[in-house]
Amino acid sequence: MTSNPFNGTLEACRSVIAVFKDRRRSKAARREFWALGPEECKGMLNDIGMSPSEFDSAMHLPYAAEDFLTLAMLSVGIDPDDFDTLEFAHDRFMSRTCITCPHRRRCHDHMEAFDFESHYRDFCPNRDNFSTLLGKRCDS
Ligand code: SF4
Repeated sequence: MTSNPFNGTLEACRSVIAVFKDRRRSKAARREFWALGPEECKGMLNDIGMSPSEFDSAMHLPYAAEDFLTLAMLSVGIDPDDFDTLEFAHDRFMSRTCITCPHRRRCHDHMEAFDFESHYRDFCPNRDNFSTLLGKRCDS
């Protein structure tokens, strides 16, 4: 089979468009967040252990508008709405870890491929927290 150079160009264009759309979504999410008002925003950020400047920096990371923590929990078999999960995630600043995670692109690609659960132990900064939560579920 001969390779078609047009396919490579098309793929590159798709990647650029995906990055552009992602940046637009992140900008919109950041705008919407700060539109809630500075006091409310500071309170919410304080609750997850982030400063406003850390939050703004994190909004430049890939897929900044995506909630990977909830998706990751569901993927590995943790109920994200369970009271103990919410309490543990809050105490361990799991949202902060996710929002500032340097592996968001890799995380996204595994989510899209539906194989996050078989790869996250190689790169996810929240992996030990997920293990503890999974262990708690077995203990109960
Ligand atoms: S890899 Fe990063 S973004 Fe993905 S679930 Fe883990 S901490 Fe969150």
